[in-house]
Amino acid sequence: MGIVFVFGGQAVYIELDAIFASEGERRDFDYEFVLEDEVIASPVQVRGCVFNKTGIVSLNASAVYLLNASCARCGESVSRTESVNIDHTLISHSENDDNDYFIVVDNMRLDLDELVSEDIFLAMPSRYLCSEDCKGLCSICGANLNREACSCKRIADPRWDVLNDLFDN
Ligand SMILES: [Zn+2]
Ligand SMILES: [Zn+2]
Repeated sequence: MGIVFVFGGQAVYIELDAIFASEGERRDFDYEFVLEDEVIASPVQVRGCVFNKTGIVSLNASAVYLLNASCARCGESVSRTESVNIDHTLISHSENDDNDYFIVVDNMRLDLDELVSEDIFLAMPSRYLCSEDCKGLCSICGANLNREACSCKRIADPRWDVLNDLFDN
């Protein structure tokens, strides 16, 4: 059984049967592709391998890209390198298809770009913060409370804490 891997939109033929057939077989890959998303500011660099360890064929890779987002509390830009682990077990057929961890490759094609994209989107938080303890903006004057302490009298009301917790989660 051979298999077509899609790397960066390019089809690459890999003899997966050789990997399934013999323990210790592995095939490395290292490529990049463009994933269109408003917070992804660079091509996605994918590095990893497909290997057979004691008869189990696994795909382990890391996907690295430059993140460019805005902090959900203060609006400052958040720019950092993100790394997502892509770990799956490949099986040649399945009675039970509904499993994200096992990737069934019986159609002779594994679109790695698509698999990596799905894992990247699954790993994305619903919002980004410049730091976990970002103080946000003053709700009255708009000052960035990470940089300055304004003199507004914000009323401490525990009911707002409940609301803030809701927004934070
Ligand atoms: Zn912030
Ligand atoms: Zn203020």
